[in-house]
Amino acid sequence: MHSGDTLLYRVLKARYFKNSDFVGAWRGFDPSFTWRSIWGAKALLIEGLQWRVGDGKNIRVWHDNWLPDPNGYGTPNPPANGLHDSDLLVSDIINENNSWNVTEMELYLQQEDIEKILEIPLVTPMGQDILYWKHTSNGTFSVKSAYWLGMLGRTSTNTAVVDSLWKHIWNMDGPPKIKHFLWRACSSSLAVNMELFQRHTIENGSCQCCQTYCETVHHALFFCPSSRRIWENSSFWEDIQAACVDSFATYLSRMARKLSQHDWGVFTALAWAAWTCRNKEIFEAPPDDPRCLAAGFVKYLMDYKLYSVRVHCSGGNMDIRSASCWKKPQRGIVKINVDAAVLYGKEVGLGVVARDDQGSLLFTGENGIPV
Ligand SMILES: [Zn+2]
Repeated sequence: MHSGDTLLYRVLKARYFKNSDFVGAWRGFDPSFTWRSIWGAKALLIEGLQWRVGDGKNIRVWHDNWLPDPNGYGTPNPPANGLHDSDLLVSDIINENNSWNVTEMELYLQQEDIEKILEIPLVTPMGQDILYWKHTSNGTFSVKSAYWLGMLGRTSTNTAVVDSLWKHIWNMDGPPKIKHFLWRACSSSLAVNMELFQRHTIENGSCQCCQTYCETVHHALFFCPSSRRIWENSSFWEDIQAACVDSFATYLSRMARKLSQHDWGVFTALAWAAWTCRNKEIFEAPPDDPRCLAAGFVKYLMDYKLYSVRVHCSGGNMDIRSASCWKKPQRGIVKINVDAAVLYGKEVGLGVVARDDQGSLLFTGENGIPV
């Protein structure tokens, strides 16, 4: 990609990233095998690239890696209310006298991010922003360092990031079924064909619905035709296409950090609807209009939130702690905890959870029985 005058570069640029550089290129619809292969490695490339701030005119605040962060992410957190200018440039928060504009930053950014930004030195005179490879001492990309970055694990597997994603999932105000779906989607537990193929359960991992691509979770939930119809009508579609990731867990982690609580709920409901559409298509019949089904899922989630507010008076996540702490059973013993509650005098809710002697979850179950 350094060799912009080669025939390969010119052909790919003309078709896939005519008006941007490689980093800003989209995957495109029905790409060639060559481009798919190159594009597939782009996520790793972008993970290792970092901007050094000059005048800030080429760096997008919310999309580009520019903020030093031990978790591996290089973008600040949007405000909790989700209101922010998505086209904001770093130059918009720099004063004319080449100092950080704290007043402007306070309009959009959280205090912890402002403190990190203030530690970034601004050089006088202002130069251009520089994109460099952060895994070599001279900032130049090398295949060897990219190989080690891939081997040692991407930032998405960073423990702090994974923990944060689990917290987002388990603390969300939604029905347990959606939490379990998200958990399965992020822990290689959804029975997509690529997963079954890798476990030698089936002979090939191609998608049964479109017969065109390998069925990964990412493909099934975003890009298979019926899923596309759901997302294309949402405000998330542009970001989904532009995101340089091919892992659902990585993308979900990013959205968990970026979206407001309301949008996060809608996003997860649409992903759940996409999975339901996929299952209907394979095991029953293709849904007439996936968008209607998705709208129903969003409504269900919103109704659930209203319901949980009415039942608990303070939202669905009221944290009632037992006076005694859960203790691990003896070695080789499985411990099963159960609980029940009467809701509005009309239904009894039952729950069961089984854990082993390490405290690891073996299974959970819940059911409602009319009184
Ligand atoms: Zn497909």
